[in-house]
Amino acid sequence: MSTSDPESVFTAASQKSISVGGVFHVGDAAGIDVVNCANEEVVATVPSASAEQVNAALEAAKAAQYGWWRSGPSARATLMRAMAGVLRANAAVLSEALTLESGKTRAITGIEVEFAAMYLEWNAAWALRLEGEILPSDSPDEQIHIQREPMGVVAAITAWNWPLALLCRKLGPALVTGNAVVVKPSEVTPLATILAIQLWEEHLEMPPGLVGLVTGDGSVGRALVSNPITNLVTFTGHRDTGKAIMRDASANLTRVALELGGKAPAIVLADADLELAVAGIIAARFNFAGETCGAAERILVERPVVEEFTRLFAERAAQLRIGDPQGDVDFGPLVNAAQLEKVSAAVSAAVAEGASVVLGGSSPAGAEFETGYWYSPTVLTDVTPDMAVAREEVFGPVIPIMTIDSFEEGLAIANDTRYGLASYVYTSTYASAMTAARELNFGEMFINRGPGEAMHAHHTGWKESGLGGEDGKHGLLHYTQLKVVYHNW
Ligand code: NAD
Repeated sequence: MSTSDPESVFTAASQKSISVGGVFHVGDAAGIDVVNCANEEVVATVPSASAEQVNAALEAAKAAQYGWWRSGPSARATLMRAMAGVLRANAAVLSEALTLESGKTRAITGIEVEFAAMYLEWNAAWALRLEGEILPSDSPDEQIHIQREPMGVVAAITAWNWPLALLCRKLGPALVTGNAVVVKPSEVTPLATILAIQLWEEHLEMPPGLVGLVTGDGSVGRALVSNPITNLVTFTGHRDTGKAIMRDASANLTRVALELGGKAPAIVLADADLELAVAGIIAARFNFAGETCGAAERILVERPVVEEFTRLFAERAAQLRIGDPQGDVDFGPLVNAAQLEKVSAAVSAAVAEGASVVLGGSSPAGAEFETGYWYSPTVLTDVTPDMAVAREEVFGPVIPIMTIDSFEEGLAIANDTRYGLASYVYTSTYASAMTAARELNFGEMFINRGPGEAMHAHHTGWKESGLGGEDGKHGLLHYTQLKVVYHNW
């Protein structure tokens, strides 16, 4: 595929977006428009899978799974490395699709394609590393062993913000441990996922049904979750959807892994390197217009430095270049009209509650912003911890700055949330950093640095930010179940 006429590539790709047993289907007539968020043009219309197609994709995955598992770890790793190679060979068209549908800059979507490939490779390297256990027995002439086996059929349901990275973050551990997968991308940004799966089917000898694809909205996700063939649901998305999935999955006691939203605090202590803090939190809030789960969502600054920090932060945020994400800018549009409305409403509500707008607070002016879903970098002060903007995930380029009178107060405000995904702390004191590491109730903590998790570590939300966790060894093991074997001779 080439990007010479990308939109016709995407239109053609979207017409075959349901893959059942390795065969692509056109789906029913009720399609969902995929929109270029920079200019509101419809790029493609993607069909919704029917209930029968969802069931058939799961049946095909079930049929493929045993042979895939029995093919052996090295064979599985070989195919996964080839899948990574196909992504890299088609990086231009994939990155173009990601930018068009999500509004992320080409610089970021280029990295996303590379990350997706690395997720497959990193997990492939685990193929021969899964270990069991041998235990003693109280019975004479008996020994016990515990082995790991695949869950079986995995339903992978993804959010719109990092379609390809989330896809491979789930496919990597699922496939290497011997599972088959049916994928349901977000209806907002399905194109890169559709292209990736089509490219794999086109260029590789994929076992039919090993990676199925069903497109459509939440009802298609529900059909996957509720189907008794599904053994594990791995989901990334909104907190409330995660709860609905858990309820639906409970009917069959299906295992779930949920990666949900966050309200990451960034604590800046008086002894922090302010330049470092400003640079790190600017990246943690404004990369990809703030539409990231681990984004800094609220800043808590110690009183002696709050004025200087706010001035530096607002100055730096004002320099961010917003514009066409296919070009050289810092961030592009929000993903859709609903997201723009949500962000804009969050700012209006904050102002109504008494917040002051230091920077931004509206969509940017100018002809290039007349169509598309744009919002300026926005900095709010006079915010109190009880305001909605300090409590609910905004998921946009908006950040409230609050003043704290002590480190302890900062920790208490930071922890006073239903969420528990990422957190940030800036300090030059070792004891404060270590105290924060112990006291903050978040699954992920960044000390004196900006965002970006390592795929060999662990990405996990505490409290209402998730269940299960992804990445690294601990994420991978979630795709397996234990079997205990008693050897009595
Ligand atoms: P969303 O929950 O609206 O949708 C996610 C997916 O779930 C989509 O594919 C959607 O079609 C599907 N879905 C909707 N209802 C469903 C149902 N009842 N059953 C099954 N599937 C259903 O989320 P979104 O708006 O796409 O994503 C934004 C959210 O995702 C934010 O809250 C963000 O923080 C979170 N997120 C979390 C992580 C993480 O790793 N923790 C990463 C990225 C995004």
